[in-house]
Amino acid sequence: MGKHLVLVGGGHAHLTCLKELKVFIERGHEVTLIGPASHHYYSGMGPGMLGGTYRPQEIRFNILKMAQAAGARFLQGVVVEVRPGEKRLVLASGEEVPYDVVSFNTGSGIPTHDLPIAPDANVFTVKPIEQLLKAQKFIRDRLTKKMHHILLAGGGPAGLEITGNLVRLASDLGGRAEITLVAGRRLMGDFPDKVRSLALASLTERGVKVIEGTRLREVQTNVAVLQDGRMLPFDMIFLALGVRPSPLFNDSGLPTGPDGGLLVNEFLQSVAHPEIFGGGDCIYFQPQPLDKVGVYAVRQNPILLHNLQAALENRVMWRFKPQGAYLLIFNLGNGRAIFRRKQLVFDGPLAFKLKDYIDRRFMQKFQISGELEEA
Ligand SMILES: Cc1cc2nc3c(=O)[nH]c(=O)nc-3n(C[C@H](O)[C@H](O)[C@H](O)COP(=O)(O)OP(=O)(O)OC[C@H]3O[C@@H](n4cnc5c(N)ncnc54)[C@H](O)[C@@H]3O)c2cc1C
Repeated sequence: MGKHLVLVGGGHAHLTCLKELKVFIERGHEVTLIGPASHHYYSGMGPGMLGGTYRPQEIRFNILKMAQAAGARFLQGVVVEVRPGEKRLVLASGEEVPYDVVSFNTGSGIPTHDLPIAPDANVFTVKPIEQLLKAQKFIRDRLTKKMHHILLAGGGPAGLEITGNLVRLASDLGGRAEITLVAGRRLMGDFPDKVRSLALASLTERGVKVIEGTRLREVQTNVAVLQDGRMLPFDMIFLALGVRPSPLFNDSGLPTGPDGGLLVNEFLQSVAHPEIFGGGDCIYFQPQPLDKVGVYAVRQNPILLHNLQAALENRVMWRFKPQGAYLLIFNLGNGRAIFRRKQLVFDGPLAFKLKDYIDRRFMQKFQISGELEEA
């Protein structure tokens, strides 16, 4: 007899399931996809969209159409509670959705709860990626001959890519912008020195002021207060302060890892509830902690596709075996990028061309036809 599979979040780890939904439906199962919006944006190309290299249509998946084309139900909403005892999900709207098997790909957000932020400050978190669209519009509407101060807090890969692409956007718009990056202890401090020095050179040569050795302490209406007491005026501020899974799993009393991610075993299955699965940034992989990078989310796709079918039909599951080293390419916004895999680090146009090729190929694999023509 058919069962009910619910996919929560149409993120990077669910894309193969979404593409292959017919596999479930043809075997008599009912499938529901729950997500806050009809589109999911690919984070790898988010900074490039901010900078103007990509149009929004080029970096998003129409998950509503992917679901509906295969005969699944798309439910627009946000899951706020899991009731594993009753096998039910509760949405923000109050609607309840029963499941036999559920898989979470709800991603992560920028943790801001420890940071005092004035309610009327022009603050843009770098996730969800849709925020970058709003930020771009904000800049387009305001960047004029008058000097515009743009601040960015966070010295990791997202901070680097967003800053590099802001320089490009400001220069293409012909406005006057002073861009400052508050990098925390050190810009790209978790990466080899060569990555760091290339990143620093790229930003400073293009006029970005990089502040290291201090962090953002408070965001007042138009002033950022740093931990060393410095006050920096701004017109808009981006927050790229690392990522955390949503509190959904902790709030629901499910076993979680130290970061609040759904605690899963090698089958990407909750350690307490065998009918609950997850992938991407929202999980904590019990066998070994994983970096919060899209690379892992993408590699979990075939495992989730197989294991969700296996869970619905009592078959043998596959193990997720994370690869050790992975490729990262950082888009600097000027047609150049920094390539890093293990000890190999270099920068230049070739690195950007490679990233662009990999990213576009990934989009082609999952975008449905007609998506690029959407308004
Ligand atoms: C600016 C930036 C650039 C990056 N570039 C790279 C890169 O080049 N390479 C790389 O490997 N990694 C990159 N990353 C990291 C990457 O973003 C994450 O690892 C990746 O997004 C994880 O994918 P995900 O599908 O788990 O989560 P997400 O991309 O966050 O997707 C989660 C989805 O779930 C939905 N959702 C959330 N909550 C709920 C809910 N309660 N109910 C229903 N639906 C929900 C969301 O709307 C979203 O569609 C970047 C991150 C940032 C911020």
